[in-house]
Amino acid sequence: MSHDGRRMEAIPVSSSSELRDLIPSDADVIAVDEVQFFDQGIVDVVKDLAKSGKTVLLAGLDKDFRGDPFGPMPYLLAIADDVVKLTAVCTVCGGPATMSQRLIDGKPAPKTSPTILVAGKESYEPRCRAHHIVPD
Ligand SMILES: [Zn+2]
Repeated sequence: MSHDGRRMEAIPVSSSSELRDLIPSDADVIAVDEVQFFDQGIVDVVKDLAKSGKTVLLAGLDKDFRGDPFGPMPYLLAIADDVVKLTAVCTVCGGPATMSQRLIDGKPAPKTSPTILVAGKESYEPRCRAHHIVPD
């Protein structure tokens, strides 16, 4: 569901191979959200789908909380026919935010924090580069 309330049916998947197995053969468009969490196998799945004439729309974070490339995103960005980079609003200054600030107990998470935290107590805020903090 989008922030403005539009809805579309979705199927949760836990791996790129599961995604490949669940795509109906008559689907014209495949849209995948949170693609940064996929394994590297997503690259071949996406290439095969595009080669077979399907329209593939991917959405995901290009950078992790450290500001480093997130999972398979660098490769997906490189092979995409078109890329649209969106920004959020920095929670500190109101400027364009391109970074994700991870906060644990309200404080910036250190660089050594795991890339993916499952059911953790962390939260995230959109930040501009000037207000993005990653302690060593
Ligand atoms: Zn800012």
